[in-house]
Amino acid sequence: MITEVTTANELHKIDPVFGQVSFKDHEQIVFCHDKDTGLKAIIGIHNTVLGPALGGTRMWKYANEWEALNDVLRLSRGMTFKSAISGLDLGGGKAVIIGDSKIVKTPEMITKFGEYVNSLSGRYITAEDVGTTTEDMDRINDVTKFVTGISESRGGSGNPSPVTAYGVYMGMKAAAKYQFGTDNLEGKRVLVQGIGNVGETLVKHLTNEGALVQITDLNEARVEEIAKKYNAQIFTGADLYSADVDIYAPCALGATVNDETVNKIKARVIAGAANNQLANEVVHGQILKDRGIVYAPDFLINAGGIINVYGEIAGYDKAEALKRTENIYNTTLEIFSFAESNNITTHQAALNIAQNRVDERKKETAK
Ligand code: NAD
Repeated sequence: MITEVTTANELHKIDPVFGQVSFKDHEQIVFCHDKDTGLKAIIGIHNTVLGPALGGTRMWKYANEWEALNDVLRLSRGMTFKSAISGLDLGGGKAVIIGDSKIVKTPEMITKFGEYVNSLSGRYITAEDVGTTTEDMDRINDVTKFVTGISESRGGSGNPSPVTAYGVYMGMKAAAKYQFGTDNLEGKRVLVQGIGNVGETLVKHLTNEGALVQITDLNEARVEEIAKKYNAQIFTGADLYSADVDIYAPCALGATVNDETVNKIKARVIAGAANNQLANEVVHGQILKDRGIVYAPDFLINAGGIINVYGEIAGYDKAEALKRTENIYNTTLEIFSFAESNNITTHQAALNIAQNRVDERKKETAK
């Protein structure tokens, strides 16, 4: 990583925003700083053709600002495709707050962040993500209406994670149907990496169906707790990527399918909640395809959360959100079939269909 500029040549290499590898036609990037509360945040608005850019706020202990910027660029772009493929009239956006949420987050910092969201007059609408909670969204809602995922007591849709998990479960079943010929997960060995808000509910659905679930998380106390609660096994192997399982479900952070892991993976299906699971969507998507591993595109199957919060804007209830989320099963199978007939990766297939929707809308509105 280059942080200092010494020559004109280097200057060219490090164009700090538009020159980033993850910068792909983003409309607006907003850097937010407040000295008093210590807030350092970046809001990324990737595309607003289909509607306002909606996406959660992630609070994370990034090693440096480059990492945070890269994350917000990748995540906000992912949201454009996620909403487009899910048929929602929303654009793609995301925000990151730099810092460990367990240590530096304060009510004042969150309020200040809400004021920044408000200053964008609805071009960006926020929600929860890793490191932020429904309580934080309620606090943001005190200073702006451009927030979703607020408490049910405030008329919101509450925590989106259980709906996200339901969608991932549906996508996983569709992938199993495609790869194994049946969507019945009974007896299937599933490794869930990351058993936070989404991972836990996914484990619940899987164990209810009789899948043989193994779990892993950085938080050992939580691993013990969830293993006991759902009768899941704790993964004890040396390397989870080469684990002998049928399905790998990444539910922690992104880029776990990368140069180091992609050729080790023994699972025949990858289906999980984490955003941006493929470190390089072209290269690693192709290797998975060549190896016959069915990859359920992350932004397609983890859309339950956004489908749920969109109800707050579009005016539908939880039952409708679950019904729409269940449809992820059908969409996933359609994507697999489109990928097969066009001989492209499943990730590319989902991207193409999402991008088409954005392009069509752009054409319509230009008329
Ligand atoms: P969470 O913070 O509740 O849980 C994440 C869990 O992953 C934590 O328990 C953490 O300890 C664990 N973890 C982090 N790094 C790990 C590692 N290297 N190995 C093993 N475990 C690790 O987050 P969440 O809300 O459950 O979301 C999980 C993922 O799904 C994130 O990538 C998030 O962006 C994505 N996602 C979430 C939603 C949602 O509705 N919450 C929606 C779409 C996508």
